[in-house]
Order: sequence, then structure tokens, then C-alpha cells
Amino acid sequence: MAMNKIYDIFKQKALVFFEALVFCLLFSVTAGAVNITNMRIGQQVGSVRVVFDADSKFDYEVFLLSDPKRLVVDAHNADIKKALSADKNNLISSTRVGKLNEHDKRVVFDLQKPVLIKQAFMLEPSKNTNWRLVIDLVVSSERDFSNKVGVKYALSNKTGTKNLASKATSTSKSNWLFSSDKASKPKPRQKIIVLDPGHGGKDPGAVGAYGKTFEKNVTLAMGKELKAELEKKGYKVYLTRSTDIFIPLRQRVKIAQKYKADLFMSLHADSATNKKAKGLSVYTLSETASDKEAAALAERENKVDIIGGVDFSENSKEINDILISLSQTDCRNKSSKFAAYVVGEMRKSVKLVGDTHRFAGFAVLKAPDIPSALLEMGYLSNKEEENFLKQSSYRKKLASSAATAIDKYFSDPEIAALY
Ligand SMILES: [Zn+2]
Repeated sequence: MAMNKIYDIFKQKALVFFEALVFCLLFSVTAGAVNITNMRIGQQVGSVRVVFDADSKFDYEVFLLSDPKRLVVDAHNADIKKALSADKNNLISSTRVGKLNEHDKRVVFDLQKPVLIKQAFMLEPSKNTNWRLVIDLVVSSERDFSNKVGVKYALSNKTGTKNLASKATSTSKSNWLFSSDKASKPKPRQKIIVLDPGHGGKDPGAVGAYGKTFEKNVTLAMGKELKAELEKKGYKVYLTRSTDIFIPLRQRVKIAQKYKADLFMSLHADSATNKKAKGLSVYTLSETASDKEAAALAERENKVDIIGGVDFSENSKEINDILISLSQTDCRNKSSKFAAYVVGEMRKSVKLVGDTHRFAGFAVLKAPDIPSALLEMGYLSNKEEENFLKQSSYRKKLASSAATAIDKYFSDPEIAALY
């Protein structure tokens, strides 16, 4: 009996010991194998959020490197089972995963712009999520970037801020658009486009040299035709004017802002003393005109308000300059991209001037927050083009190309991520 009891105790102890041994072995295996299962990149204007999903928390360091610009994420004691892939966006051009040593992994993101690491933190699992490492990047100046390059500026789980984490989960989750996160991707809302038929009322604009065609009539007809074309494609479209009335330039910009336009397009037809001058061109805003001709055109178009008897200097030069400088780089980049699509589509159907996308200081393009372009549809001073622009069939061809360009612009992934 006694021997049996001793044997039983021994057996129990051995079992406990054995179990402990198995547990230790298991633990040492799992401890070396935190699985990073997924990676997502979300984007807002001027900032990017990178999220790693993992089955457990892990130690990390996040820092920047230069020449070329990179974001480095070192994950300690972690395995990355499947190849992480992330869509490119206008901040991150490519992603690589490598082995730092036997246990640690390194993920490198190639950056297209200087950034700062705003925060990096680990989030505990919630009902539907695993552990997450969240890294927020903001676009910065080259100087700020170069001041924060190197491992010594690394953010890690030791430096990460916990209170930021809880704040981030409660406030900013819904604002982030993750390209790979289909469930949380909001349905794209209907895009709003404001079309601006140039001139009107007492201001006829350019007058055709042969048929005495008024620019204000051509632009209004084109505005209505393009509106119809865009509405067929599902856009919400407003005209700054739908009748023959005079509207000051500033007012046109305000109309676009009132409607919260996603895109603003001003329609014009040019005129030149050289009767042979012909072709279509697209303008976006710049403080400096791309050439003398562009500057002169902007001056002609901007004089409209003086013709109309309205004080053009409603905003002082200083305020105008501030408005321009406020205009986000993102907005100008969008305008340029839009202009490029318009040029690309128009090229297929009509003659363009040599330097088709040009830059000048048009007052009507100065909404600081709305991507804008001005289309000069052709020259009323040219006999052939005046004749074309009078015809609805020709304008409809232009309208169809412009509508296709607008479609391509909004479905550009870089652009789509920014709206
Ligand atoms: Zn004009």
C-alpha cells in the first residue's frame, strides 16, 4: 500500500514535471514565432497609416533611413508567414520583407516623399481584431525628414505611447481608408463637379473673327453639353451660370466652394492676333506662367471683372498670394493630374497646341482647396476652329473626351485614395 502510494506520488510529480517540460518547450517555440499575418496601408490627405496584424504582441523599432528615403520596421521574434503586399500610394512606392537575423524580421518601405513618424504603438486585440502595430506617417519637409533619420530616432515598444493608442482607436479609425480592407471601405460618394462657362452677359469674351461667334455662347453651350454627358456617368454637376449673365471671377470660385466641388473646370475659347493660331490647351494654376503667351492669356481672362465694372481687387494681392500659398500641394498635384488626363483624352479627338498643359495665374483657378483646370477649347480667331466651335457635334466630341478624362481622373488609385 505504502509503496503504491509513494509510487503514485512519484508518478504525479513526474507527470507535472513532464507537463512543465512540454509547456516550456511549447512556450519557447511560440515565443520565437509571433506571426505577423497581414499588413495594411491606409491613406488620408498628407498622411499614411501602416498597420501590421499579429497573433501576439511583439517588440519593434520603427525608424527612417535616407538615400533613398525608407521607413524601416524591425519586428523582433516574429515570423511573417505570407508575403506581405500593400498597394502603392503616393507616399510608399514599394515594400520588402527581409531577415534581420535568425529571429528578427525587417520590413522596408520605399518612400516617395519626406515623412515623419508621428506615432507608433501596439494595440491590444479587440472583438474582431488581433494584435496590431500601428504606424502613422505625415508628409514633412526635406529638412525635418533629414533631422530625424537614423536608428537613434527609432520609436519602439519602449518609447511608444499607450495613451495615444486608445485615443487613436476611438477617434480616427473610421477616417482611414485602407485599400486592402474591403469591409471598412466606405461606398464612394457621388462626385460633385462644377463647370464654369466663361464670360457671359455684358462680357462676350473673345469674338470670332469671321462668324462673329461670341465666346460666352460657345462656353455656355459646351457647359450644358458636358453637364449632360457627366450626369449620364453618375456625377452631380452644377454650372456657375446656365443663362447669359455676367458673374465676377471670384464669385465663380465661391460657387464651386458653396457646392463643395470635388473638381472645377472653367470653359473658354481663345483668340489671337495671329489668325493661324489654333488648337486646344488646358491650364492649371501657378504663381509663374509657363510662358509669355500663357501670362498674357491669364491677364486677358482676368480682366473680365474690370470689363464688368467690378473691382477686381476685391481681394488684395497679399490675400491672393496667401490663398495661393494655402493651396495644398496635394490640390495642385491633383489639378495637374486632372489636366494630364484631359490632354490625354483630347489628343485622341482634336488638335492640341504644342505645349498643351500650361500654367498661369488665372483668378478663376484660385480656389485653394478644389482641384481646378481651365480648358481653352480652341481659337475663335481661327476661321476653321470658329466654325468647329459653333457646331454642337464638335463640342459634343470635346465633351465626351472631357467626361472620359474626368472618369479616368477619379478612378486613378492615387487620386481615389485622396478623396
Ligand atoms: Zn475666355
